[in-house]
Amino acid sequence: FYILAIETSCDETSAAIVENGSEVLASVISSQIETHKAFGGVVPEVASRKHVEVITVIVEEALRQAGLKPEQLDAVAVTQGPGLVGALLVGVVAAKSLALAWNKPLIGTHHIAGHIYANRLVAELKYPCLSLVVSGGHTELVSLEAEGEFRIIGRTRDDAVGEAYDKVARALGFPYPGGPHVDKLARESAEAAPLPRVWLEPESYDFSFSGLKSAVLNLVNQSRMKGLEPDAGAIARGFQESVVEVLVGKAIRAVRETGAQQLLLCGGVAANRGLRSALAERCSAEGIELIVPPPVYCTDNAAMIGAAAYVKWRRDGGTALDMVADAGLSLEEWSAGRH
Ligand code: ATP
Ligand code: MG
Ligand code: FE
Repeated sequence: FYILAIETSCDETSAAIVENGSEVLASVISSQIETHKAFGGVVPEVASRKHVEVITVIVEEALRQAGLKPEQLDAVAVTQGPGLVGALLVGVVAAKSLALAWNKPLIGTHHIAGHIYANRLVAELKYPCLSLVVSGGHTELVSLEAEGEFRIIGRTRDDAVGEAYDKVARALGFPYPGGPHVDKLARESAEAAPLPRVWLEPESYDFSFSGLKSAVLNLVNQSRMKGLEPDAGAIARGFQESVVEVLVGKAIRAVRETGAQQLLLCGGVAANRGLRSALAERCSAEGIELIVPPPVYCTDNAAMIGAAAYVKWRRDGGTALDMVADAGLSLEEWSAGRH
């Protein structure tokens, strides 16, 4: 079953062809990071226009890479939400047009289901499993009791992890997106600034990172007020240690309490070396199977959308052509077919 998948929810224009939701035959990703860097973050209007400029060539390139003709495809999938509405619209309109022109079913797909099912591209999933979603806009613990059944058991009450990384990076003078810079600095520093761990209520799987972020900004400002340059290495390391300790602690407890057979890491922050190594260490010590996609499938890409779309197709079939892009699409409502 060949799915052409399209992803345009934020600042990556991507098209992929995925067979049976697990074999990537083609994956093309065009990033707009260089365009947005000048503004210190993603500018929605600019993102939409860039998607429009490249979407047709990206789709053609995916077909060429896979060596397939449109008539050989079985469905066209697209990220329906969540994301920037103007950016989502470009992918949705393109996917609907192609589905109509080629007479193929359309599969509206949830962006976070995509991040989670990126793991299906690298391993066979066993249910129940648990996913730790760490991206630019989301920090969630999602329990999957069966294929395509998502239950969010914990989420951030304020900033997402990636967002906190980007704000800390900015305060330390790094360009957008700052996560990788903070990660590198944290690994190179011998010192760690003492920073709080935010666990919330003992039984809660929720997260909160805005207090930690403010504590970092205070350290930076206090140094500058004294005319000193802040110790960026110690701050980066202290920040990363706090984030990693809480993410790993809650994820491991959730695996135990939900009886999950596997832990699936996903989202752009899954590229973080500190998080990857701490999770790998804890999982191996506790006999938990950990799955982590390679970095290209952690940040936004269409192959992960092809993987999630295949699962959706097997459960619910296609999506009506009058489907609309939904900036706030809920994972649970989408997976229950109420969207
Ligand atoms: P969402 O999927 O929630 O809509 P998004 O798609 O914008 O958000 P991703 O592309 O999954 O987010 O991830 C981007 C985020 O990952 C950025 O905040 C970036 O700083 C962060 N990131 C990337 N690499 C690292 C790293 N090595 N360490 C920490 N953060 C990182
Ligand atoms: Mg991105
Ligand atoms: Fe994403």
